[in-house]
Amino acid sequence: MIRAKGIAAMSAKSELAPFSFERRNPKEHDVVIDIKYCGICHSDIHQVKSEWGASIYPMVPGHEIAGIVRDVGSKVSKYKVGDPVGVGCFVDSCRTCSSCKQDLDQYCLEGHTGTYNAYERDGKTPTYGGYSDVIVVDENYVLRIPNGVPLDKAAPLLCAGVTLYSPLTHWKAGPGKKVAIMGLGGLGHMGVKIARALGADVTVLSHSNKKREDALKMGAHHFVSTDNKEVFKKYAGNFDLIINTVSAEINMGDYFGLLKLDGTLVVVGVPDRPLSIHPFPLIMMRRSYAGSVIGSIKETQEMLDFCAKHNITPEIEVISPNQVNVAYERVLKSDVRYRFVIDMTKI
Ligand SMILES: [Zn+2]
Ligand SMILES: [Zn+2]
Repeated sequence: MIRAKGIAAMSAKSELAPFSFERRNPKEHDVVIDIKYCGICHSDIHQVKSEWGASIYPMVPGHEIAGIVRDVGSKVSKYKVGDPVGVGCFVDSCRTCSSCKQDLDQYCLEGHTGTYNAYERDGKTPTYGGYSDVIVVDENYVLRIPNGVPLDKAAPLLCAGVTLYSPLTHWKAGPGKKVAIMGLGGLGHMGVKIARALGADVTVLSHSNKKREDALKMGAHHFVSTDNKEVFKKYAGNFDLIINTVSAEINMGDYFGLLKLDGTLVVVGVPDRPLSIHPFPLIMMRRSYAGSVIGSIKETQEMLDFCAKHNITPEIEVISPNQVNVAYERVLKSDVRYRFVIDMTKI
């Protein structure tokens, strides 16, 4: 076995603390990765606190992983020692269902294998994530980080980046399309940069004016502060596509009114409570309410290559592993611009 050092939560109530564990020796198709950086995703906090159903402990969170290949199994053909690589939100899937066969493995009908807080396909070996110094992953679930993309900035692309890239490309954000991004946080700021690079006309809808300057600097064409309710009249019927990255409770009816005929509002943020919507704003303009989760392995690679080509990287604050508990507090207060990344070489 391979000795690993990480930080883990031992229960829903405990803080993250140093933790030693083992990774499997590489099987034929496995890649052993020295983890250099791991992003902090808001979903890490939900899972550490067991807010999305019963979590598995000890839990080593982290699914925005960037590192360097240390070793490869005997039949690995895609990667070699020294390659810069990434691992995102899942490390396996059934590989045989209709979703997997269509390169939509994030929607595996048997459920994909989460990078942490999950069990391997054997149903009993827990998976441990990227808040650690090494990980072993099948080559088919490893991503290539393009040359020139720094590893610390590559990390958040593996979840936040693809979570926005997937719906933006699926609903065809591009030239001639008006796209609004609700919320300018870890997810939203990636949405602005990617939608802009895709050629769309980009608007940020934010609950205050605080992030106006940042949004425009990131490439948004327009910034609308929704604390003035008049804007819902002014921008009525304006957008082809709205992506909701906000996890707070909001009046959804207001936002559906901003969509054009046949427009779509896609939810990617997960609020604590159900969002209610009266059918009128939907039926009157044939609008759609849709959802999207992360992206496939194929799409994640496409997104990494797209971001490299267009020079898109997240705004990050790099921290040491011993600062993670403080970072969690700050994420909960939205006090981060815009993604924390842990330097795992300091573990
Ligand atoms: Zn995530
Ligand atoms: Zn499947």
